[in-house]
Amino acid sequence: MRLRNKPWAPDKLASYPQYISNNPQELKGKWQTRFEKKQDIFIEIGSGKGQFIVGMAEKYPDFNFIAIELQTSVIVSILEKQIDKKLPNLQLINGHGGDLLDFFAPGEISRIYLNFSDPWPKTRHTKRRLTSPDFLELYRNILPDDGEIHFKTDNMGLFEYSLASLSQFGYVFRQVWLDLHQSNFTDNIETEYEQKFSAKGQTIYRLEAYWPNNKTQH
Ligand code: SAH
Repeated sequence: MRLRNKPWAPDKLASYPQYISNNPQELKGKWQTRFEKKQDIFIEIGSGKGQFIVGMAEKYPDFNFIAIELQTSVIVSILEKQIDKKLPNLQLINGHGGDLLDFFAPGEISRIYLNFSDPWPKTRHTKRRLTSPDFLELYRNILPDDGEIHFKTDNMGLFEYSLASLSQFGYVFRQVWLDLHQSNFTDNIETEYEQKFSAKGQTIYRLEAYWPNNKTQH
């Protein structure tokens, strides 16, 4: 996501520590203390301006949500929405998905959302894709057995790659959508990119996968 630089953004982020901790590493294993209610925590990596995660937090007050976004000039837009809405089940992290193990304890996160992640089409950039094995290993560490990954994209190449990557790693698909907007999936909250790309006629792909628990049959 490209935006003009906002030199005031870091100061603004630092002014709302109740929504965006200045030191998220200190909250590792203690995220429930940041929310009004103790309930399952779902994170989104690469939240952009936050339309999805804010919409989810509004629609699902019985889950806690954490938006993770790398770019200061972008996450400040999520903060502005949260200053307006004051959702008790939404927190923000200005950080990198590669640092998940610094932010979260094993099993602390029940579900991970990836929406319109950067495709990194060149083979030499494979490791940067958020569904590459190194990232899947990080997710495996913070998810419990049965923990879920939900992924949406308009990029067919990244979707094909992700299907193979998740499967080879050992995640199990609960469902795959090859044309989400023409499907009977009624629970969709659109992201900014999703609106932009589907308006241009792009097909939207989606998958839900989970880490299998040997003890239960799905
Ligand atoms: N999910 C949003 C934005 C998609 S663009 C939407 O669907 O509209 C991808 C976003 O992910 C960008 O804002 C980018 O800054 C962020 N991003 C990319 N790699 C990241 C990483 N490793 N950790 C956190 N955020 C990342």
